[in-house]
Amino acid sequence: MSIKASGIIASPGIRIGKAYVYKTSEIIIPKYTIRDEDVDAEIERYKQSLEKTKTEIKTIQEQIANNISRDMADIFTSHLMVLEDPIITEKVINHIRIFKKNAEWIINDITLDLIRHLDSIEDDYFRERIIDISDINKRLINNLQKRSVESLKDLHEEVIVVSKDLSPSDTATMDKNRVLAFVTDRGGRTSHTAIMARALEIPAIVGTQNITSLVRNGDTLIVDAVRGIIIINPTEEELNEYQHYINDLRKLDKELETITWLPSITADNIEIRILGNIEIPEEMSIIKNHGAQGIGLFRSEFLFLDRVLPDEERQYEEYKKVVEYFNPLPVTIRTLDVGGDKIYSYNKDCKERNPFLGCRAIRFSLEHEDLFRTQIRAILRASAHGNVKMMIPMISTVEELIRSRHIIRECMDELKYKGIAFNENIPLGIMIEVPSAVLCADKLAKYADFFSVGTNDLVQYTLAVDRISERIAYLYNPLDLSVLRFLKQIVETSASLQIPLSICGEIAGEPKYTMLLLGLGFREFSMSTAYLYQVKRIIRTVNITECEELVAKLMQMEKTSEIEEMLIQVMRAKFPWLNIT
Ligand code: PEP
Ligand code: MG
Repeated sequence: MSIKASGIIASPGIRIGKAYVYKTSEIIIPKYTIRDEDVDAEIERYKQSLEKTKTEIKTIQEQIANNISRDMADIFTSHLMVLEDPIITEKVINHIRIFKKNAEWIINDITLDLIRHLDSIEDDYFRERIIDISDINKRLINNLQKRSVESLKDLHEEVIVVSKDLSPSDTATMDKNRVLAFVTDRGGRTSHTAIMARALEIPAIVGTQNITSLVRNGDTLIVDAVRGIIIINPTEEELNEYQHYINDLRKLDKELETITWLPSITADNIEIRILGNIEIPEEMSIIKNHGAQGIGLFRSEFLFLDRVLPDEERQYEEYKKVVEYFNPLPVTIRTLDVGGDKIYSYNKDCKERNPFLGCRAIRFSLEHEDLFRTQIRAILRASAHGNVKMMIPMISTVEELIRSRHIIRECMDELKYKGIAFNENIPLGIMIEVPSAVLCADKLAKYADFFSVGTNDLVQYTLAVDRISERIAYLYNPLDLSVLRFLKQIVETSASLQIPLSICGEIAGEPKYTMLLLGLGFREFSMSTAYLYQVKRIIRTVNITECEELVAKLMQMEKTSEIEEMLIQVMRAKFPWLNIT
């Protein structure tokens, strides 16, 4: 019998391989007292190790800037900030003088204090910094002892790396050709390691809690980073099943690749636009190479992961990069969607009982107007370089939209006054992701140039189901009749007012829902690349009338389970190559 574990998909894909349990060996901290006359020499020893560690980090930073991107390299700026922090350095030196203990002992005590402090803060940002601090500690101590740090760069065979956690420096320096996938106990989707995995296209599952206690070196693993599961020492049957699945997927991908540049039209000649969702600029080439007609959702949160807020110039450069790359195709930049499960350091003080119902997205931006204005100016400036649209997340009232428009107008006046170029007619759209926005879409339409439906949130707010709660996950279903009715309503409102509409929630990129969404009336889909070809193939096979007939039947039913059963049945019968769960 095989053992299964599950976790959070940090980077998609499926791999089978041998486990390499990466235990960065426990560092041994020598502890001894030093004589008065040796204090200065001990301080000198510490300073030398500090310099060597800084050089190491700068080298890694350079490697990443050359091999991956400047953004990723910037992740190590916080390492350098800690190493160059005069308060910490002085503290170490003072403690060596006062307590007359060796440098390793002092550094380790100070690090443990810092880690304990960070761990007591209920905030993902700070928790995820623990791995950075531990990495620095280890490097300093190894350099004091003139030992080299283990890394994943000298692997001799292809492996699946299993580890408690991976520091960004582990991920950045790992041998990409030998690491098939990685799985960790800790980490979340927004950790730097997860972001880096996506940029490197290495399948990864993080936050499994206990994978290191279940796996031993050499175990065979199936990492299914499509469903978020890991199968440890699979049975023959499971192996065969997955081998077939992977082969089918490869074959299908090869076959499907041929449709990359074919038009996205239904069998009855209705044009369906397919755009991409991205979270970091590094994803843009993958999206373009899949034949997407632009970016329908550029989540800007990646820029705000670090403690230091990005200034206007930095944001402008990042947006411009994507905009120029896609020009003349559109790039829809969404303003900051912080809050909910995306809590960042500067937002840590607004602890709320119900963060998803709290100061999130546009509410946060309107509360922090300076930050909002900085982002708007950066987006406006990027609009001078191509086809940019601006989109606001989680609008729930007309007032919010009017206020946002007013601020955008003022930012435009400011740029105009300064003689800075931007597109004065930049379209301003809103995400439709709360019930109030669906119900008042006709009013919102007066102030918006387009709508994009965010079903990830619309489902949670319609059904009152926290989208990240495992306990009530069974209730989170986009096929609930209430959601279908909302989707139908938003399509009808947009059509009657002739306001462009797209859909960018996860279901837009899942083949299981393609016929349903076409039948409901969606004609523009924005998605990640995981199943883009499959969705496109379905689009090219079906005609709208049969999709509409399917929707009519589904919407007659009352139970979600019945709707789901029928949809799956129809999709399986029509597309036997689809692997629907
Ligand atoms: C959504 O809610 O569907 C959406 C696309 O936004 P996010 O997942 O970033 O909240
Ligand atoms: Mg959303």
